[in-house]
Amino acid sequence: MSKQIHIKNADFIVTMNAENTVFTNADILIEQDRIHSVGAIDRKRVKADAQVVNAKGKYVLPGLVNTHVHTSQQLGRGLGDDVDLLTWLHERIWPYESSMTKSDSYVSTLLTGLELIRSGVTSFAEPGGQYVGSMAKAVKELGLRGKLAKSTMDEGEGLPEKWQKTAREELDVQVEDLKKYHNTAKGRVQVWFGLRTIFNNSDKLIVKSKELADKYSTGLHMHVAEVKEEIAYTKAKYGVGTVTHLNDLGVLDRNFLAVHTVWLTDKEVDLFKKHGVKVSHNPAAAMRVLGFAKIPRMYRKGICVTIGTDGAPSSNHMDMIDEMWLTSLIHKGWRLDPTVMKAQEILTMATKNGAEALMDEALYGSLEPGKKADLIIINPHSASMLPLHDPIANLVTAMHASNVESTMCDGRWLMKNRAVLSVDEKGILKEAAERAGNIRKRAGIVLPDRFPVQRA
Ligand SMILES: [Zn+2]
Repeated sequence: MSKQIHIKNADFIVTMNAENTVFTNADILIEQDRIHSVGAIDRKRVKADAQVVNAKGKYVLPGLVNTHVHTSQQLGRGLGDDVDLLTWLHERIWPYESSMTKSDSYVSTLLTGLELIRSGVTSFAEPGGQYVGSMAKAVKELGLRGKLAKSTMDEGEGLPEKWQKTAREELDVQVEDLKKYHNTAKGRVQVWFGLRTIFNNSDKLIVKSKELADKYSTGLHMHVAEVKEEIAYTKAKYGVGTVTHLNDLGVLDRNFLAVHTVWLTDKEVDLFKKHGVKVSHNPAAAMRVLGFAKIPRMYRKGICVTIGTDGAPSSNHMDMIDEMWLTSLIHKGWRLDPTVMKAQEILTMATKNGAEALMDEALYGSLEPGKKADLIIINPHSASMLPLHDPIANLVTAMHASNVESTMCDGRWLMKNRAVLSVDEKGILKEAAERAGNIRKRAGIVLPDRFPVQRA
């Protein structure tokens, strides 16, 4: 089989390189797992047995990067609708997640991966499930790239008994995971350190996690300044807001991925800039309960802002294309300014900024010679996406996941012409539906009927 793939005659190749070059009527040549050339390629180099893909009428884009997705919560989709935060956490999510087995986590990650592949994601960061080994196995099979972390908690009220751990225990298990799974699946699986939230993480755990992330040249993924109550809590406990406290601990740095980041003062935004902290903006989860982060301000200051979906019980759609669209809307709405968060900025957040936040900017996030062949082909010929008066804006403001025709990661098609090739989609859907109900029963979660139901 040929090791070359020749994607030819694409209407638009949106490279997201340093100049944001868009090629029209152009080609990409892939050799093994890398992009050999893009734009006007040397067609004489293309071997007779190269796999040829005609992309006439289509777009080619870098694979999208989802910087915050809870793969272990996917089987809990629908458990968090229309309830307040404490009910969500204590009566739904904690009981559900703590009732999951290793194999549940594996199937949950497979189901997440299907949704990611179908919506054009090739790389993601998982903030913390319980079983990193199960997630790693699934990511390997899916063919995606993942930065996986364990959810760590060493203090806080109301934690399920099996989650009551010391800082030492939480650190040890993460180092063990790292030794087993870091850089597996040809480097596509990497292990990061996870911090759930400041409500559940001691200073000791936070500082030591940062030390270990530095030691192993990996990243640190934490929910930061997520809800208003969090700032009241940190002010009462530490005298300052979450970000100022993290700065006082000396952990804000280039390998720190801060998620949500809603309740920051302008001074704290400056601290992010000063220390090169990466931000994951999750607009759907924000609109549900968190609030509106100062994303336009952060972006203008040059902070590396990225996009994530959060978990299925928080925002239901693990779909980066929906999140791009929401990002384009919510800041215009609360700022009453339709000129903020432009489509090209949002594409930057979802591609090359995502790669930078995952510390992989040298590998992917743009379509350039020498980079990994992580890309997607978009077919815009649908009632919801045509016409293409403003083709770049359309990718953010009119595209749906169903317009993603093919997804490639590491030079391998994970989905081609809407058929997922890397895993057995049908089998996963069946197993996921069965397991989800079983976990809910084990966790003792009963959802009230919303309409009168007649059970036959
Ligand atoms: Zn989250």
